[in-house]
Amino acid sequence: MSKCRVRTFSVEETRRVGEIIGSSVPEGTIILLSGDLGCGKTTLVRGIAKALGIPEDEISSPSFNIVHEYDSLVHIDLYRLDSIEALEDLGFEEILLDRRIKVIEWPQMAADYFKESGLPIIKISCSFCKDDEREFEIVDTVGKICQKLENKFRSGGFYVKDS
Ligand code: ADP
Ligand code: MG
Repeated sequence: MSKCRVRTFSVEETRRVGEIIGSSVPEGTIILLSGDLGCGKTTLVRGIAKALGIPEDEISSPSFNIVHEYDSLVHIDLYRLDSIEALEDLGFEEILLDRRIKVIEWPQMAADYFKESGLPIIKISCSFCKDDEREFEIVDTVGKICQKLENKFRSGGFYVKDS
């Protein structure tokens, strides 16, 4: 387990934080993004996508599709999920196990899938500070990736909080 916290002061900074995360996590990683509407989850996904070679403008928000699949990334937004059964129809369990990076917005809608699952999960809690300031708390539930991330955030000039 490892943890770190970083703050951003613009959309562009959040994208760059996403890029650092996307270029640092091993394949198969599941990234759970929680936090209120507008706190920057999809912006972060755009940066992650960029790091994985996917044009950022292909990442949509808001959207009526729950699952968006790319070569190296699966972007899942559970905000409009009607029921847990609907997830089974989407092949959610198989997706979780594949080698691509998975990013999941509103993961609390499928909380049972992630509890003590043994899956390689990184949790990111996004929150508002003031104006265009956002804070991202990152918890690597299985490994030490946050030490590496913290170093990269610091050398990228980001505001890193001691945790
Ligand atoms: P979510 O997916 O969490 O609902 P989005 O990334 O879609 O959030 O939207 C974030 C909103 O907040 C956008 O309107 C964006 O312009 C605004 N914003 C302001 N400052 C930031 C920041 N530092 N990081 C990300 N978004 C920001
Ligand atoms: Mg979103």
